[in-house]
Amino acid sequence: METILIEGQNGKSTIIVDERFEEVTKYLPKKKHFIITDKNIEKYYATVFPEAPFFSINPGEPSKQLGYIESIYRWLLENNADRNSFILGIGGGVVCDIAGFVASTYMRGVEFGFVSTSLLSQVDASVGGKNGVDLDGYKNIIGTFTQPRFVLCDTRLLKTLPHEELVNGFAEMVKHALISDIKLFEQLEHDCIALLNLNQPEISKHIAESIRVKASIVTADERESGIRKLLNFGHTWGHAVETLTGISHGKAVSIGMEFACRLSMEKGLISNRDYLRIINLLQSFGLPTCMNIEPSRVFKTLVKDKKRNANSIDFVLLMGIGVPKIETMALEELKKFAE
Ligand code: ADP
Ligand code: ZN
Repeated sequence: METILIEGQNGKSTIIVDERFEEVTKYLPKKKHFIITDKNIEKYYATVFPEAPFFSINPGEPSKQLGYIESIYRWLLENNADRNSFILGIGGGVVCDIAGFVASTYMRGVEFGFVSTSLLSQVDASVGGKNGVDLDGYKNIIGTFTQPRFVLCDTRLLKTLPHEELVNGFAEMVKHALISDIKLFEQLEHDCIALLNLNQPEISKHIAESIRVKASIVTADERESGIRKLLNFGHTWGHAVETLTGISHGKAVSIGMEFACRLSMEKGLISNRDYLRIINLLQSFGLPTCMNIEPSRVFKTLVKDKKRNANSIDFVLLMGIGVPKIETMALEELKKFAE
């Protein structure tokens, strides 16, 4: 078992890797507990907490509609939740986003924690204190920065996770290596098969390493005014691909990372050899690196997504594996590259 600490202006958060999820009661403060989960998780894991009332959302992003969230506030009210209650989210990124948002706004904020059940949420979504819900097609447009009291990551839970969802998490793990440390990247190359098979100790080691990368970035810049932007590597292009095609987040980010690496190569920042090495690792995890979609359409979606009238964009590039760089690029330059 390992613990990783995040100390932000908006509170402290302890991330516990490789604790059995049944042990979550050790971390729960003596308060009235309310569980938010989803219907897939409920059938596997919610039964260990028979005494707490729970609200089970339909799995998936559509449940993040602000209108739907009202029904969760009502449920809390009906069950007499007050300032002294504690909300426990058990689930993947969607549950963590919803539970964190509801907890940080209900009665101006009640304490909360997560049992993170998907690889994506263990290495990314549940770490960092951001939460959010969607409005009128804008993702995470309403939300807060509030740290959960704890995040418990039990790697055994990944055994029931569909393979497609697992692959999404590997995209963020590769991202964390690319923006932080070539050694971590080399370890991913070395351990790829073991990770795909969820072998121990590799899976626990890599989850903890990946969380450490994110935790140190978030601790340095909780509100994304500077280096937290590095976490957007692959996401500027990737989000547009996700919006346009509806493919899963991890796959879209993989396409986005390929784009950012190609751009870095064309600008002479990384070698062709590094570029190919990165593509190779993404593909080894079963992630796509190209797609039959016109780049000019992705560019248009990207510009629309920005919502602001900016004519430049902060794009994360690489100067080497493990050496990221935030470059303010004129949209015109990006457009040329996307043609
Ligand atoms: P994310 O990929 O951001 O974590 P979700 O919260 O939507 O996104 O989770 C992805 C899908 O995987 C959902 O359908 C969810 O119910 C399911 N899921 C999450 N964790 C597990 C698990 N441990 N076992 C089985 N299914 C899971
Ligand atoms: Zn992401």
